[in-house]
Amino acid sequence: MVMVRDLDHWIDGKTVPRGTQPAMTVHGPVDRRSVASVALGGASHVADAVAAARGAGPDWADRAPVERGRLLLAVSSALRERAEEFVEVEVEETGKLVSEMRGGLGVAADYFEYYGGVVRALFGETIGLGSGDHAFTTREPYGVVGMITPWNGPLTQAARGMAAALAAGNTVVVKPSEFTSSTTLMLARLCEEVGVPPGVVNVVLGTGAEVGAALVDHPDVRLLAFTGSVTTGRAVAEGAARRLVPTILELGGKSANVVFADADLDRVVESALTICVGAGQQCAALSRLLVQHEVHDELLDRVAAAMRERVPGERLAPMTTEGQFEKVVEYFDVAARDGARLVVGGRAASGETAAGRYVEATVYADVTPQMRIFREEVFGPVLAVSRFGTEDEAVAMANDSDFGLVASVWTRDSGRALRVASRMEAGQVIVNGGRTGIETPFGGYKSSGLGREKGFESLLHYTQLKTTVVSTR
Ligand code: NAD
Repeated sequence: MVMVRDLDHWIDGKTVPRGTQPAMTVHGPVDRRSVASVALGGASHVADAVAAARGAGPDWADRAPVERGRLLLAVSSALRERAEEFVEVEVEETGKLVSEMRGGLGVAADYFEYYGGVVRALFGETIGLGSGDHAFTTREPYGVVGMITPWNGPLTQAARGMAAALAAGNTVVVKPSEFTSSTTLMLARLCEEVGVPPGVVNVVLGTGAEVGAALVDHPDVRLLAFTGSVTTGRAVAEGAARRLVPTILELGGKSANVVFADADLDRVVESALTICVGAGQQCAALSRLLVQHEVHDELLDRVAAAMRERVPGERLAPMTTEGQFEKVVEYFDVAARDGARLVVGGRAASGETAAGRYVEATVYADVTPQMRIFREEVFGPVLAVSRFGTEDEAVAMANDSDFGLVASVWTRDSGRALRVASRMEAGQVIVNGGRTGIETPFGGYKSSGLGREKGFESLLHYTQLKTTVVSTR
């Protein structure tokens, strides 16, 4: 039997008693049973959390990077030791397949390992000025970082920002999605268990309109790191602009997977099927498959056959939230109205899985740039397939989007691969299925965001640069 967890804010190393606060019940995606009751905080909880983070800041920032790094390495080890607890809880709230979530747990642990180590290589530069004058730069933390995360990868996204922010010497107040708050709370407690001082990591639960907005507006929050939709990202950026604080925005995508006729089609099929990872609820999903005429029909047949085998509830996870489920089902109507050719799926799952928020793995062909499923992020296991003739057409189609998060190119012609990669308007381009990792910076061009997460680059984003000029005369 699923237990209903009571989730309460974690501020200054303590759980805040719920008292008379309002709460929201979270219904799990697999069968819509209640799994958690989440306290819905307000501006006063944000104020308490920011005060705690501010109080803990000077001691944390003053520690040697190696000392902070060691604590982060301890978080990484503890996460791996307690992997199954985290996996079980997040699977219940997000509906991810256990295998997917085990992968996600590994990534979360990797973030702490990477930033715990690499922070020791964070230094500034010296600048000779002649006549006995010289300058040096140092990388200093901002202070309190406000982090707002979405529901599709709660643990990995909290870990990604937290590990870099903490390594750089900041303290954090995290606002997870109200639908998936558990593992962020568990991570905050785990930080404290391994020796991260109280107040360095705080978690305030609640809605975006109340808690998220209060965090954006709080005068002592010096940097905002937001992951979520474009619409909310804009609201966060507007709030940040009013206070002139920097933002890191990781937003949505409609990423193109461009396949030339000389590609290794076996590997392309595998790549196309990644639209089913997390049931397509990934910002980096390659949701547009653009295929050169010569191999279009063959590839479409092979992808369609493989998608048919992604049976909901067995090899395909559900939609995490009710709103997301309704949105994907609505896109099935939109695609039909716009004249896309349905090849596989196109409806909510029936039978045993109908109690959950499952939809079928779906492929549309003959998708043109005017159609909404070409332009809009569905965030489901829905692949939009289009065809092109020439290299120029491929590039124009791939770039015909407000988004620019990821692009993928498949061809055995290495000159063309690099030419096309350089013309892609995307923050990350994958050539012939290259593997990405913690080390590879990630973020958007155009409406997909501002700044970069992952890699050393992210550590730089979580610091501000000071130049000190010295005269030796
Ligand atoms: P969302 O924008 O609705 O919510 C994200 C977070 O913002 C939640 O915690 C929410 O409570 C909060 N929020 C809502 N309104 C707010 C406001 N006015 N002020 C401050 N905070 C507010 O997004 P979602 O539906 O939870 O997540 C799905 C979206 O996230 C998709 O568009 C997806 O592409 C994107 N995403 C991007 C990345 C990335 O790294 N680029 C990763 C995962 C998800």
